[in-house]
Amino acid sequence: MVAGGSLGGLRTVEQLRAHGYTGSMRIVGDERHLPCNRPPSSKGVLSSTASLSETLPESTFRQRTSTADAQRSLGTKTFCSNLADRVVELDKGETVAHHGLVVATGLFARRLDTCTPAAGRFVIRTIDDSLVLRARLRPGIRAVIVGAGFIGCEIAAAATALGCQVTIVEGSSGPMENSIGRKLSDTMKPLMEDYGGEFRTGRVVGLLTALDQRCVGFTLDDGSQLAADVVVESIGSLPNVEWLDGNNLDLTDGGLCDDSMRVRGATRAVAVGDIARFPDQVLGGDARRVEHWATAGDTAKIAAATLVADLAGQASPAAVTPTPSFWTELCEVRLVGVGSPGAATSVRELEGDLGHPARGVALGYFREELLAAVVTVTLPSNRQLHYRGLVATARELASNLPAFQPNPTRKREDQ
Ligand SMILES: Cc1cc2nc3c(=O)[nH]c(=O)nc-3n(C[C@H](O)[C@H](O)[C@H](O)COP(=O)(O)OP(=O)(O)OC[C@H]3O[C@@H](n4cnc5c(N)ncnc54)[C@H](O)[C@@H]3O)c2cc1C
Repeated sequence: MVAGGSLGGLRTVEQLRAHGYTGSMRIVGDERHLPCNRPPSSKGVLSSTASLSETLPESTFRQRTSTADAQRSLGTKTFCSNLADRVVELDKGETVAHHGLVVATGLFARRLDTCTPAAGRFVIRTIDDSLVLRARLRPGIRAVIVGAGFIGCEIAAAATALGCQVTIVEGSSGPMENSIGRKLSDTMKPLMEDYGGEFRTGRVVGLLTALDQRCVGFTLDDGSQLAADVVVESIGSLPNVEWLDGNNLDLTDGGLCDDSMRVRGATRAVAVGDIARFPDQVLGGDARRVEHWATAGDTAKIAAATLVADLAGQASPAAVTPTPSFWTELCEVRLVGVGSPGAATSVRELEGDLGHPARGVALGYFREELLAAVVTVTLPSNRQLHYRGLVATARELASNLPAFQPNPTRKREDQ
């Protein structure tokens, strides 16, 4: 039984077959149409004029022949579960017994904590969200984006390109700072400003203002007012774990897993993708979730191997922590990252000059002596592959060095 039929769920089903599982499979997902690839929702879909019926076929995940016999229940939600008895209850009243469970219910968009009417306020998690927002992004309107993470910045870039007056409110000092560090964020900020986005950094949203049952702006913590025709809340996401309540699991920020993606505290249950909180065997520290497209596929491989072994009563293969990788595209810049920039204690240029990002740059993120991550800016794919190899090698060497003890409390120097 696979709960959640988007990227992580689909990749796990494929991997279960690839690992020799021949039994029946049922995928339960609450989206009303076949699940879509999410990255274009905050990029190309916002800038295109295609309708839902034109956009859906391009964005829908391809079904592989190996999984064509899997039973799919669209528009159906897992409501609650008893993992000890291996049953899951669906919102349509059905109780499903299973031999093994895949937890792939992902995340939902976090909202501002306010009772202000929802009209005029938007989030993007699905393609439907994207089309609803797109219909409002007309030239000249005032669009305020709250949160300058990857998704917020991508939405801001798309809205700017559509001719909206864009303001981005961010609590830290710049765009994507939490993900790519201060140095690169400082490079991206003027670049986004050149495209027309205006930043209000180091600021937090206070009271929202409503008129005629519609949000029309808000006050910032410095007392200033921002008027808005459209407010996009892009302040992170929260895991869809409610249906797992009552099973004595650690559901603090997603489902806690071991390094084989087994849900801790359950048997024959694995978690994959955005919802899975798992340890990094190389960098150590607390288990964490990784909200990247590639991680859904990487964790699916490990989880499927584990589940197949557990179902057969065999020892699961030794797990290797997947190396995170991500990309984003905005203002004609493509950032590609491999590794964990957030774990670094220092950052330096490996190639190019941050003063001229358009000519191509590679930034190395070091945790003490270990190359923990590289982020490239507009570099060709052969250079990206080169740095991917460097990070992979560094991780492999570090995992073979028992003496390597990264100090989780060391202060970050120049990010
Ligand atoms: C707008 C956007 C842009 C992105 N862009 C990038 C990018 O450029 N690069 C990158 O690396 N990553 C990007 N990502 C992240 C990437 O898309 C995710 O990491 C990936 O979608 C995770 O897949 P998942 O299957 O774990 O979770 P999800 O995609 O969230 O899928 C979970 C599925 O479970 C369903 N579900 C939830 N609760 C239940 C329930 N109780 N019962 C049944 N079904 C349920 C959901 O409806 C959903 O279909 C982006 C994400 C978003 C939202």
